[in-house]
Amino acid sequence: MRLLLRYVLPLLIALPIAALILYPQLVRCTRVGQSDDFRVLAGVKQGEVVYVNRSATARQQDRFRGQLRTARDRIRHFWGDQRGRAVLIYCPQQADYEQYCVGGEGAGCSIGTPWGASYLILGPDGNDADVIAHELCHDELFVRLGWWRVKRQIPQWFNEGLALMVDYRFSSPAVWEQPDTAQDKTSDIEDDMMPFARHPMIKLADLETTREFFGGDYGHVMLAYQTAADEVSRWLTAVGRAGVPALTNAVADGSEFGDAYRRLERTKRRVSGK
Ligand SMILES: [Zn+2]
Repeated sequence: MRLLLRYVLPLLIALPIAALILYPQLVRCTRVGQSDDFRVLAGVKQGEVVYVNRSATARQQDRFRGQLRTARDRIRHFWGDQRGRAVLIYCPQQADYEQYCVGGEGAGCSIGTPWGASYLILGPDGNDADVIAHELCHDELFVRLGWWRVKRQIPQWFNEGLALMVDYRFSSPAVWEQPDTAQDKTSDIEDDMMPFARHPMIKLADLETTREFFGGDYGHVMLAYQTAADEVSRWLTAVGRAGVPALTNAVADGSEFGDAYRRLERTKRRVSGK
């Protein structure tokens, strides 16, 4: 109890305050509902909150609804159900996107807070099912494990690798969505995907933190993505789709990530005799 009062409680109070001071973008996200620059997107699923910048044309809004539907279906199929409750913020213009996403890089970004709220920000290139599904996947992991567990337990290569499994810019539906076609279509799939220089991959042990993963030039980050996607594809092919919620449940119940990750694969291989 003393420990709780002396350390945990102040930490619980300090963390949200520190987060708000450090990131003006986060403050804007929490206040997006009060901003005159945004309106609520009509015609989305009940319970889903999507804010769209006023600069978005009717056509962009229509497209966004369709892409979101595709992304959401993919997430439900991949995870078994969708529990994420993130607020989506769509900014078709880069200047607005940078106001909400720290750094303003990439097509989308996700912000999870220690107090459980989460925001997915989609930029000019984010009106796209792959991008939206990618961010929604980060949010599923976040909602199932919470901010602290994701920070403490989940290596960045797994968090990104998992999101890349529903992001077909970097992976193939054949890994889990249509596994029957995996064998004969491998060569087509390779051709469809983003071209990567075939450098030697980075060691997973060097991609544990966000800093290790994203701290580097464009080439490093792309290679980090590819390394993460390759590893999680390999694992997913062995454990199957059910392995994803199984792993998350194990970590939520207190298992160490690495143990649970390896155990699931071992068990599956033993059962199938591979
Ligand atoms: Zn990501």
